Amino acid sequence: MKMKAFAMLGIGKTGWIEKDVPACGPLDAIVKPIAVSPCTSDIHTVWEGAIGERTDMILGHEAVGEVVEVGSLVRDLKPGDRVIVPAITPDWGSLEAQAGYSMHSGGMLAGWKFSNFKDGVFAEYFHVNEADANLALLPEGVDPAAAVMLSDMVPTGFHGVELADVQFGDSVCVIGIGPVGLMSVAGAALRGAGRLFAVGSRPNCVEAARNYGATDIINYREGDIVEQILEKTNGKGVDRVIIAGGDNDTFAQAVKMLKPGGRIGNVNYLGSGDFIQIPRLDWGCGMGHKTIAGGLMPGGRLRMEKLASLLETGRLDTSPLLTHRFNGFEHMEEALLLMKDKPRDLIKPVVIL
Ligand code: NDP
Ligand code: ZN
Repeated sequence: MKMKAFAMLGIGKTGWIEKDVPACGPLDAIVKPIAVSPCTSDIHTVWEGAIGERTDMILGHEAVGEVVEVGSLVRDLKPGDRVIVPAITPDWGSLEAQAGYSMHSGGMLAGWKFSNFKDGVFAEYFHVNEADANLALLPEGVDPAAAVMLSDMVPTGFHGVELADVQFGDSVCVIGIGPVGLMSVAGAALRGAGRLFAVGSRPNCVEAARNYGATDIINYREGDIVEQILEKTNGKGVDRVIIAGGDNDTFAQAVKMLKPGGRIGNVNYLGSGDFIQIPRLDWGCGMGHKTIAGGLMPGGRLRMEKLASLLETGRLDTSPLLTHRFNGFEHMEEALLLMKDKPRDLIKPVVIL
């Protein structure tokens, strides 16, 4: 059987294609999307060639959907179940997963399969490996559009908070307040951050950052962000920095604004140059106890279920991220191009099917 899908035709080229409906293995599920969202990563993939050449690869890795078929060994899911699909769908039997790094199952970053090593979710149907381990049931009463933010934005933003190891009362700076950084702001607030700086400039994002718990907004277009942070902290800097956006200077700025003993959590995609610069003196000539951690979001059902409980209990509201809602698959391209052009009023588009 054939299906329609929106795909990367080659670097810099997208379009509609027809493909066979994927086959279901014994541990797997076939899912049809209910709501999907394009991601900044899709833009890096298509227009920057971030993962290399791909031909007719279906795009997308953020979806909530309905199970239409399960393999013979799947225990906990059945056709008709509504599920949250994480962007990262590891092989749970791999040695990397057993070592605690499921996102690197099969090789560095290889837990990211959708729209990378296999077809993504912008299709009438898509395949999910190890369905019991990778899919979470959508809780009753949770809006599927809001729940799509659990695929990538919430787990990635929150992982920045984990990597920076935010503790009660810590001063924190989140650099970049697109949808990922906004979820870092929300996650840092949930973890008990004290003073919470948010770096960005789009008015929508600034307002959302305040609502998610930022105490201070730093506009990088109005002066050096290190100077602004040092001025507001009596020259001391912050305990934690989360990087969720920026440019080639951001890493050095993060090191400069960090206190000795602090941690940097990076979830930003570093897209150019062969090396990252670490300023020697600001890094204590190698002895400053300024730790730098960077990681791809963890996936998996347990993680998704726990994050979904934050929506279910009302502790986290992702709906303010959804600035642009579309109804119907035919709007897929429009939604993706919004992510490419980033109009000033955009946080995140969602397509409801
Ligand atoms: P956006 O483009 O929506 O947001 C980027 C943010 O960075 C904006 O707030 C922007 O400010 C800010 N910014 C831009 N330039 C600078 C600068 N020079 N200094 C400080 N801040 C700056 O991106 P997303 O939130 O969608 O994604 C963020 C990153 O996370 C991307 O690189 C994406 O690829 C990556 N990502 C990583 C994943 C992971 O698992 N590790 C998964 C998904 C995404 P302004 O308000 O002016 O626009
Ligand atoms: Zn994404």
